Order: sequence, then C-alpha cells, then structure tokens
Amino acid sequence: MNPLTRLPGHRFLHSPGPSRVPDEVLHAMSRQPMDLADPRVDATIAACEAGLKRLLHTEHDVFLYAANGHGAWEAVIANLVAPGTKVLIAGTGHFSESWAGQTEAMGGVVVRTPWVEGLPIAPADIEAALRDDTAHDGPHEIAAVFVVHTDTASGITSDLAAIRAAIDRAGHPALFVVDVVASLGAAPFDMTALRANVALGACQKGLMVPPGLAFVAVDDVAMEASRRNPAPRFYWDWRLRQSPLSYRKFCGTPPQSLLAGLEAALTLIEREGEAAVLARHRRLADAVHAAVARWSEGGALSFFGQVPASRSVSVTTIAVAPGVDPEAMRTVARERFEVAIAGGLGPLAGRAFRIGHLGDINAAMVLGALAGVEAAMAVQRIPFGRGGVEQAVASLAAD
Ligand SMILES: *Cc1c(COP(=O)(O)O)cnc(C)c1O
Repeated sequence: MNPLTRLPGHRFLHSPGPSRVPDEVLHAMSRQPMDLADPRVDATIAACEAGLKRLLHTEHDVFLYAANGHGAWEAVIANLVAPGTKVLIAGTGHFSESWAGQTEAMGGVVVRTPWVEGLPIAPADIEAALRDDTAHDGPHEIAAVFVVHTDTASGITSDLAAIRAAIDRAGHPALFVVDVVASLGAAPFDMTALRANVALGACQKGLMVPPGLAFVAVDDVAMEASRRNPAPRFYWDWRLRQSPLSYRKFCGTPPQSLLAGLEAALTLIEREGEAAVLARHRRLADAVHAAVARWSEGGALSFFGQVPASRSVSVTTIAVAPGVDPEAMRTVARERFEVAIAGGLGPLAGRAFRIGHLGDINAAMVLGALAGVEAAMAVQRIPFGRGGVEQAVASLAAD
C-alpha cells in the first residue's frame, strides 16, 4: 500500500494527542504572519493567556512557550529544580518516569513513589514520602511534588484533591506541580481549588491545536522559589517571560499561527461551555468503556485501568493477552479501516493499544472508531466479545 495515496472520506484520528483539529482552528491558523509590533499579535497573546487562565481556574501568570509538553516539563525543572534539588515524583507509569528521567538529566534528585500497574496514584504513598522527608526534624529537602493528572500511557487519571489533602496532612511545604497535558479540556481541573502552585500543559490534546505550544501557570509561591533558584537558564526563565513586551514573553518571535489556533480553540470551548465540554468527554468515554467491557468478554482483551472511576475520559488503554499483536491490529485499523489509534507506550509496548477520545469529537465519531477497531480485530482473528458498538450505542442512548 502506498502510504502517500489520498484516501477518500474522513479519517478517524483517535490517538490521545495530537488530536483532531476543528475547522475553525485550521482557518484561524491560515493567515499571513504579522510584524512584531502589530497590536493584533498582542491581542492574540492576551486572549490566549486569559482563556487559559479561565480554563485552568487561576488568576496567576500563564507563560506560553513555542514547545511541546516536554518543553513545559523543561520549563518547570529549569525554574524550580537546581542541580541537587530533591523532587518527589508520583509514579503513574510512562509519563511520570519520562518526567523523572528529564529531571535527573538536568541534575535533580528524584524520589519516586511506586507505580502499581493499573492503579492511580496512592495519596498515602505521597504522604508517607513527605513525612519521611521530615523524619529527623531536619530541614525539608523535597522542593516539589510532581504529579501527572492523566497518564496518557496507562489511561488512568489520579485524584488531585486527594493528593492535595495528602500533602496538607504531611504538613510539608513542597510545591504542588501538576501536569494537565492530557486532561485539560477533558477532565475537571481547578488550579485555585487545588492550591496547585504550578500547572503545565500543551495544546495538541484536549485543546485541539496542532502540536507546538506549551504553557505553564505559576503562582506567587512557585514564582518566588524560581527567583531564589540560582541555576543558570534563559529561554525557560519565568522572569524573562513576565516582560510587558509581548514578543519578549516568547524570548523571540511568537508562534503566531499556533497562537491564533489556540485563541480559536479556547473560544470554541467557551462557546460550548466548559461544563458541557467536560460532560461530553464523560459521555463519550462511558460509551468507549461500554464497548471495551463487552470486548473483554472474549478473553483476549481487558481494561488496563483496574479502578473504573479512575479510567480516563481522554484515552482508554486496553491490555491484550500474550499472543495478541496489538501493533498488527493497529496497522489494519489505520490502513484498511481509516481509524488511527495508539499503541502501548514504554512498559506497555506490545502489551496494549489505546483509543483516544478527547478534543474535537462527537458520538458518531466514537462509534465509527469503535466499529473500525472491531473490524480490525475481526480481520486479525482476535477473540473479542461481539457487540461492543451496540453496547456503546446503548450507553449513548441511555444518557
Ligand atoms: C503528551 C504528554 C506529555 C508530553 O507532551 P509532548 O508534547 O509529547 O512532549 C507530557 N505529559 C502528558 C501527561 C502527556 O500526555
């Protein structure tokens, strides 16, 4: 098959990022660049900052970067973690471990809480690790707790309010830093209510923009910690991003097209209404979960997430029994049935596949994706419980 051939009809993109881009966002992006002094550039940046603040539920500064999610991680590490600084990273699997590896590469010392496959973060583990940090009445050493809200590899969302409460119970002053790359715009998040000191994200998942923009919201406590951090940095430095000159906020030319796209995407979210957007994600995730529950009856597939309430509304991770090749099935789904899904990441490579259901999607798209996956599984002779699509229809009809 020639991969360059244009295929007719709608292709179903069900990776959990990059996700589908709405036409309104594509149109907003297709415009000529502007000179840096054009007030429209300032207006677009201001609209993105204001829209992100509303969605994150924070009054604090939001810094935007021409970067991906790893850039947002780098920004947090560069500003808060001087070499030798200790950080607690809660184990969630692939994404917490990637973030930990990046922190260590930059000289940070990482304390990990255990990752138990299939389970969300145990707040008690965080509490215990923070209590240990003060066991000898010495100074607190852990500067921050890094938490991935939704681990996109495991498809599991952890309970941030319970984690906030665990940090409070330990009486530890560590900063609370949350990665909402995969959850913002899909699952509820409120930076103020959580008293999170930092929230970081990227634009290509729930925010429906092509990849290339990252952002970090920083409260006063975290800002002060960054001012005290002597580690050398420049591009990522939050102090430089506070410039009143909008282009300086980007340490150079702003990514104008992506910003125009983000402004349009945030407008779409606000028009639909944040509560309605979140409810749509819940409804569509329930439909996918209904299908997967039925498929699991065939014996070869199962939910990776063991706790139903912590299964993500953004992406569902489906574990496969030994002997089933999820990569071959994915290829058939994409190349023959036009449904692009994701594979297992990190420790789940070859052991799982993932269906993304976040961003610019509706019920018919979810049903189409599920049907395409069923067709691909039938081609591959994977034993799955028949009627997953019917279960999804029933779930949607019952809402
Ligand atoms: C996708 C993702 C990242 C990394 O984002 P990139 O843009 O791929 O660098 C980080 N954290 C989470 C939770 C993600 O889902």
